[in-house]
Amino acid sequence: KKITIAIDGFSSTGKSTLAKSLAKSLSYVYIDTGAMYRAVTLFAMRKGLIDKNHFNKEGLVESLPTIELHFEYNPEKGFAEVFLGQENVEGVIRSLEVSQYVSQIAEVPEVRRKLVEQQQSFGKSKGVVMDGRDIGTVVFPDAELKVFMTASPEIRAQRRYDELIVKDPNISYEAVFKNVVDRDQIDTTRADSPLVKADDAIEVDNSHLTIEEQFNLILDLAQE
Ligand code: C5P
Repeated sequence: KKITIAIDGFSSTGKSTLAKSLAKSLSYVYIDTGAMYRAVTLFAMRKGLIDKNHFNKEGLVESLPTIELHFEYNPEKGFAEVFLGQENVEGVIRSLEVSQYVSQIAEVPEVRRKLVEQQQSFGKSKGVVMDGRDIGTVVFPDAELKVFMTASPEIRAQRRYDELIVKDPNISYEAVFKNVVDRDQIDTTRADSPLVKADDAIEVDNSHLTIEEQFNLILDLAQE
C-alpha cells in the first residue's frame, strides 16, 4: 500500500538526499518544497523586491498570482526539477545568495499559503515523499510516516560547504555556517508554521550516520 512520507528538519540535514533515494527505491514521487521557496526567492531577487537593504513584502504578495511553479521529471537525474514559468531554475536556486534571502521569503504567510496549497495538491495521490520544514505539521498532518532530521550545525555547514565549493571556489566555511544557523533561527521562530518536530515524527540525528544507514533505517519503517 502506498503511503505519504513527510521528511522535515533543520537546514542541510540531508533531507533531500534521503528523500530522493527513498522515492527511487519505492517508485514514489519526490517533491522538494525548499526548491519552491527558493524559486519564489529567485523571482523576488530578479524583480528587485529583496536585497541586502530592503524587502518589499507588499510587492511580492501582489505579484504572487503571476508566479507559476511546477516540477518536471528529469530521467537522467532521477528526480523532478523545479521550474519558474518555463525556466528550469534547479541549477540557480541553491546559491548562497538565494539561501541568504529564502527564510525571509518563507516567513510571509501569503507565500506559505500558496505553496502549501500546491504541495497538498501534489499529495492527493499516495506514494509521495516530500521534504521541508512543515510537511508533517501543516502540509500532511496525516502522513503515515514522519521523519524529523537533525545533526550538529558544524556537520551540516561542512556538508553544505563541500557542495557549494565545487561551484564557487570563493565561498567561505564561516559564511555557510552563519547561513545555516541564521536560517534555523528564522525558521524556528517565525509566526506562521514555525519549524517544529511533529509529535508523531521519528527523530533521526544523522551526525554520525552514513547515508546508507539512514536510508535502511527509514526504508524499513516505510515498508512496515
Ligand atoms: O530545504 P531548503 O534548505 O532548500 O529550504 C530553504 C528554505 O525554505 C528553508 O531555510 C526555509 O526557510 C524555507 N522552507 C520552508 N518550508 C518548507 C521548505 C522550506 O519554510 N516546507
